[in-house]
Amino acid sequence: MDMAALNHDMNGTCCCQATQSTNADDIQKAVQFARKYNLHVTVRSSGHDYVGRSTWEGSFLVSLSEMDEMEIDLSTMRSPHGTVKVQTGIQWQEIYEKLNTLGRVVVGGSAHTVTPGGYMLGGGHSPVSRSLGYAVDNLLEAQVVLADGSIATATENRTVIVTLEGDIMYHENGDLFLALRGGGGGTF
Ligand SMILES: Cc1cc2nc3c(=O)[nH]c(=O)nc-3n(C[C@H](O)[C@H](O)[C@H](O)COP(=O)(O)OP(=O)(O)OC[C@H]3O[C@@H](n4cnc5c(N)ncnc54)[C@H](O)[C@@H]3O)c2cc1C
Repeated sequence: MDMAALNHDMNGTCCCQATQSTNADDIQKAVQFARKYNLHVTVRSSGHDYVGRSTWEGSFLVSLSEMDEMEIDLSTMRSPHGTVKVQTGIQWQEIYEKLNTLGRVVVGGSAHTVTPGGYMLGGGHSPVSRSLGYAVDNLLEAQVVLADGSIATATENRTVIVTLEGDIMYHENGDLFLALRGGGGGTF
């Protein structure tokens, strides 16, 4: 984890401490650090949030902008059209460009610099929503780090949680998945 003394968002407000995460392990460490010192955490993928929820002044900022990988699978059984797996900090511009080379489109934002993290949590309105629905209508799976540092992988019918101690728990319901599909984050 790289630690920086100050971090400024697009509006010029600043957080007191920042950590740049590049994988789930980094995020787990950041969450544990924040719990240990009882810090107010904000999470930022792109910093587009209009009211500064991703850049709260005085907070411990977990920046995810370097989590910007994507994988395309056109032969998957999970969807007849293929799937795209993205990390939270990749910008829609890059996703569109890569999919376009394969003749595919994804339900994403109109602003190219918005990222899937907050966009998905807000439901995801798109220029193609009239025909293809909201982004969350097309979401198949989400992986998140929970407040206790566990990693949860959520689908419509099942949530698998791996705790910091390595224990695995299965929940045969889609409660977390439902909550992630528009239950948080910002929208316009
Ligand atoms: C110019 C512009 C154009 C836009 N166009 C569209 C559009 O076409 N369609 C649409 O639906 N919305 C649009 N929006 C709204 C945008 O989707 C929301 O502001 C969204 O919350 C931005 O998400 P982000 O990850 O890019 O921003 P951020 O500011 O990084 O995050 C926004 C919120 O989500 C949280 N968050 C981000 N990533 C994560 C994560 N991985 N885990 C947990 N929490 C996270 C942050 O803490 C914050 O509360 C637009 C906004 C702007 C500024």
